[in-house]
Amino acid sequence: MKKALIIFIYLFVISTNTPAEEKQTSNNNLFEIGDVIISSGETHRGTLKVSKGDDEIESFIPITVHHGVNAGPVLSLIAGIHGSEYSPILAMQEFAKLIDPSQLNGTVIIVHIANIPAFSARTIYVGPNDLKNLNRSFPGNINGTITERIAYILKHEVIMRSDYLVDIHSGDGNESLRPSYSAYYKEAGGEEVVQESKRIAVAFGLETIVQFPGSYDSINDAIYTSAQAVTLGIPSIDIESGELGHTDDRFISPIIDGALNIMRELEMITGKSELPINPLMINDRTRVYSNHDGIFYTDPKVQTGDYISAGSPLGIITDYHGNELETIVAPSSGVLLILFGTPPVNKGDNIVVIGRIPDSKNN
Ligand SMILES: [Zn+2]
Repeated sequence: MKKALIIFIYLFVISTNTPAEEKQTSNNNLFEIGDVIISSGETHRGTLKVSKGDDEIESFIPITVHHGVNAGPVLSLIAGIHGSEYSPILAMQEFAKLIDPSQLNGTVIIVHIANIPAFSARTIYVGPNDLKNLNRSFPGNINGTITERIAYILKHEVIMRSDYLVDIHSGDGNESLRPSYSAYYKEAGGEEVVQESKRIAVAFGLETIVQFPGSYDSINDAIYTSAQAVTLGIPSIDIESGELGHTDDRFISPIIDGALNIMRELEMITGKSELPINPLMINDRTRVYSNHDGIFYTDPKVQTGDYISAGSPLGIITDYHGNELETIVAPSSGVLLILFGTPPVNKGDNIVVIGRIPDSKNN
């Protein structure tokens, strides 16, 4: 069908509709994304195009969109912002098959792999072409590098069409990360956005929840995916489940279950979730950065998920001949959330993240 005709039909349907529905209600008849328009009760499997820039690189973003038969919110789930974080990517492969648009209230946008260049090249943190971190590249730039153009497309085609956004990560290819957690901004985006973000962070159903501090003066400062969303007034959370390039079901299943739990909470599907009664709230995090290039050795007595005391040794860095350069110790007590799990380390790398919980704050 020609685009003009599609637009004509689209406008016709809109104009014959009952008065405009509230924001947290998708158009029950047609849903537009990229260059397609999806009818209610249909599933669209396709790609968002990322056009060539001055760098002569073009790319695409594979998506599935389930447009439900009934009105409801638009929920977006993004995997693969970091291309070597595999459990979110594999979870969304399965999750996409579980949604039936004929039984769905609202619309689900699934971004299967946000960062195809990083996935294909198997890079951690950054894209292979411009060495930029997609999760530091929002709001994006349509005239920028490939990573900046991907961010721009994600912002305009996914984030801005959403009523709720879930950005799913794991420890990167070099990072051990436990326990799995959901996270939300406890101050950014205004009171209602904070409350709705907290609502879906809790509804996801993990035992650990991290509260991010701070807010953003402008969307140009909100360089993270979920920060961009909340600054635009869209409730959003981060999920972290998985580590070290692993593809174990124990990291994938909680993501699928959590996504379904959010859909139940938002009454997009029927059913009740079983949620933890008293999840652990982590309200502050401390980090350790490397002072050297070299080889990292994890202390054999620690692993992520452990509760550790301030001053505990976590590992050492040696030079390339094995001479010790630095002992890495915990700067505070708390839960060891992230620790490097592979040997390469560069000056400035964030080797350690510790989640401080209220009882450990003064230690
Ligand atoms: Zn990530």
